[in-house]
Amino acid sequence: MRKIASLIALATTLVSAPTFAAPAPAVGGDALSIVTDLTTEVGQRLAGSPREAVARDWAVARLTALGFAKVHIEPFTIPGWERGAETASITAPVPQKLAVTALGYSGATAAEGVTADLVYFPTIEALKAAPDGSLAGKIAFIDHAMKAAQDGGGYGPFGAARRQGPTIAARKGAVAVLIRSIGTDHSRIPHTGVTSWAKDVKPIAAGAVSSPDADLIARLAGRGAALRVALTMTPRFTGEAPSGNVVADLPGRDPKLPPILVGCHLDSWDLATGAIDDGAGCAIITAAALQAAKDGQLARTIRVLWAGTEETGGFGGQAYAAAHANEPHALVLESDTGADRVFRVTFQMAAADKPLAERITADLARFGVYAGDGKPEGGEDVGFIAAKQKTAVIDLNQDMTRYFDWHHTPDDTLDKIDPAQLQQNVDVWAAVLRIVANVSRPIAPAS
Ligand SMILES: [Zn+2]
Repeated sequence: MRKIASLIALATTLVSAPTFAAPAPAVGGDALSIVTDLTTEVGQRLAGSPREAVARDWAVARLTALGFAKVHIEPFTIPGWERGAETASITAPVPQKLAVTALGYSGATAAEGVTADLVYFPTIEALKAAPDGSLAGKIAFIDHAMKAAQDGGGYGPFGAARRQGPTIAARKGAVAVLIRSIGTDHSRIPHTGVTSWAKDVKPIAAGAVSSPDADLIARLAGRGAALRVALTMTPRFTGEAPSGNVVADLPGRDPKLPPILVGCHLDSWDLATGAIDDGAGCAIITAAALQAAKDGQLARTIRVLWAGTEETGGFGGQAYAAAHANEPHALVLESDTGADRVFRVTFQMAAADKPLAERITADLARFGVYAGDGKPEGGEDVGFIAAKQKTAVIDLNQDMTRYFDWHHTPDDTLDKIDPAQLQQNVDVWAAVLRIVANVSRPIAPAS
């Protein structure tokens, strides 16, 4: 409730306010405005949910207001899923609460939950080595040792605990599976993220506990204690659910030239507002396209793809690749690793395009960006079309040292974005787009 003094202050403000109507704020095309407005006005936008549909309409309105052409939604459907209740606690040898969240596409326990012995596996490899049937009636726990790294390199290998672990545990008879959150923080906040079930496996309850809770489980297991855990998790599969991609063009001077495709994803997990994953990415690519064309129309069209349903399996990127299979693309890029600065650029381009890569590298040096080895693939939103068409790819690698502290958690919120680093992304992207969108000859991928 407001204090009376502040009500009086408010009334005074209202009385003394000017009588003319303040002009409506202009629609911001800068990255910070876009991600601020998306996270404030739409909020969480889980794939296939009504909020994701609201986000699509919001995106169409925003991209239209910013002057993009052919702004439209390309609908598709996905297997719907929504979160339910989620609680967990150790009941023996000592009662302790656990901070837990269900993984995307988790199965459910009974409404009243399940209490069972917990079997500790230090790694997914240890789980794989467990004899068939040895987990009958038990809850499997999978630990791992992901550490923060600038290139986020641990996510692929350690993420296997989340992606494949539940299927392996279910095959060995487990009634539920818990993992250490795939993250690098020390908060009592669990990280969600999708798991995928093999066709022959019936989904079981699958959740992640916070890192300090995983430490606790590891310590108790290390003392040889017999652990029992009570788990209630009641998510549900909702059948076929609507999703869609939002696609828009910033038209180039020569409509016959294939476009440069820049991608991000519009959906977020349901636990937060998806500021760094991936509101920031959509903000960066959009603001950069506008910034690149600020001083004059580019030769090639820049196509912006705000993909739907990336988080639960890359459905948006696959739908785009299917819908645009017969339409050539010049080059693809994606922004989906947060809002911190770009530190490195990598090229999937033919040797004949080495001078182009060198020109880009030289131009990016002023932003502290250097060229790295490696073969970029673009990511879930643009990678499918790139693979299908063998399109050239440029990756602008962001500093991911902090990214996995907040990724897929209730802490993925606007305050985690550093405006200066966000703008560095836009400046780097705009520099790249200004160069590549003015290259009129075909850009070939490395074979
Ligand atoms: Zn993402």
